Amino acid sequence: MSKHQITFAPVMTHQETIVAISTPSGAGAIGIIRLSGKKALEITQHFFSKNLSEIAPNTVHFGRFKLGETVLDEVVLSYFKGPNSYTGEDVIELSFHGSNYILTEALNAILEAGATMAEPGEFTQRAFLNGKMDLSQAEAVADLIASESNAEHRLAMHQMRGGFSAEIAKLREELIHFASLIELELDFGEEDVEFANREDLVQLIEKIRAYLKRLMESFRYGNAVKNGVPVAIIGKPNAGKSTLLNALLNDDRAIVSEIAGTTRDAIEDVAVIEGIRFRFIDTAGIRETTDTIEAIGVQKSLEKMKSAAIVLYLYDLKDDAAEHQQTLNKLMAEFDSRQTTFVAIGNKADQLSQVNLTPFESTNGSLTPIAISAKTTAGVDELSKALVNAINSGAVTTGDVVVTNTRHLNALRLTDKALDAALNGIQYGLSGDLVASDIREALHQLGSITGQITTEDLLGNIFGKFCIGK
Ligand code: GDP
Repeated sequence: MSKHQITFAPVMTHQETIVAISTPSGAGAIGIIRLSGKKALEITQHFFSKNLSEIAPNTVHFGRFKLGETVLDEVVLSYFKGPNSYTGEDVIELSFHGSNYILTEALNAILEAGATMAEPGEFTQRAFLNGKMDLSQAEAVADLIASESNAEHRLAMHQMRGGFSAEIAKLREELIHFASLIELELDFGEEDVEFANREDLVQLIEKIRAYLKRLMESFRYGNAVKNGVPVAIIGKPNAGKSTLLNALLNDDRAIVSEIAGTTRDAIEDVAVIEGIRFRFIDTAGIRETTDTIEAIGVQKSLEKMKSAAIVLYLYDLKDDAAEHQQTLNKLMAEFDSRQTTFVAIGNKADQLSQVNLTPFESTNGSLTPIAISAKTTAGVDELSKALVNAINSGAVTTGDVVVTNTRHLNALRLTDKALDAALNGIQYGLSGDLVASDIREALHQLGSITGQITTEDLLGNIFGKFCIGK
């Protein structure tokens, strides 16, 4: 755990010992029943064949789980004595043979003996409340459980191990230092002293804001990893959109899966490239509706395409480039250039003996097309790389902290806003107490990420989304 962690929400003492089946049962699987709380040992003793009163912490014991005289199962018992356990309380884990019958009987007996059924996420919530992890780490537990790709797993693991928390703690430290200088001045208010050199303060705020900006920008990648990147392939009929889609889906580097869209019934084409899930938007629709590119503005499918983070603009290299420059201009005007990355792709390179790639001019500078042959798949690798780079830009590397959570993003935005106000305050020579209050607001917002500041609602919202037993 990170040594940067400072204080946590008040430690609560729990009266109840909670219990849950914490792994799914099924043929051949092991079923685990987990208890946490003061009475974990005492309750388990009712059923366990060996004396548990003097077992050492962090030990494993084989024994029989008995209901009265009947042996229900032979089990392995693991004992973790608080505070050195996941929840910070005494924890017992019983590994049963994964039969639904066995697990249900055992769970009912344990409940009758005085344990309470755990709420969703309650084990992790207790871990948070007992200071075993901060809030962003607890949220990462949920992300880890839900992770489906290498990149998702990596980000969740980094966050769970405190990478993000450490960064937030660093920012807080800098701000606290800053606030203390200002508040010192307030103590000497009458004497008109300046402990805090205004230029240094401005520099410090600007440094922090630059870092906040990087964190906020990382959300583009973090969100893409977590939720997939919507991609639209746009181009004239016969440009080769279907062929390209197939090439991308059959790329060796892509793991192709069909998943039901969560918000609609349509099936989505998904390719996972370098751990990032690319979701091709309504590709069936594109195939049918893109009759003339001029008409695109009035097509309904454009609305859907507008949610694309990446637009692949595909054209036939044999076409007149000027025509496509015009179409691209029109098309780009429809999209928000801050949200959408355009990639121009010249197709059917196999039909030309020499390929001349004229860069297109765009509002964000020139756009150099990638030459491919969707048919022979030449250049498709380069395109895959461009897709990954479009998301990965901002130089996100393995060790960097990446924001994956909308709640964190919002808190970072509000922190930035408060710092902006502080900066203005300094520049306009406002009184120190106003500046100090902006800094306190920034500290408050940062603290909400790691859980120094929480509300019941927030905790309910976060832990309610966990499954029972976690
Ligand atoms: P769409 O209407 O944009 O979806 O285009 P299709 O993918 O259906 O392709 C239209 C035609 O172009 C088909 O006959 C494809 O075989 C052909 N085609 C697509 N890509 C290439 C390519 O890279 N080279 C060649 N020679 N033909 C291609």
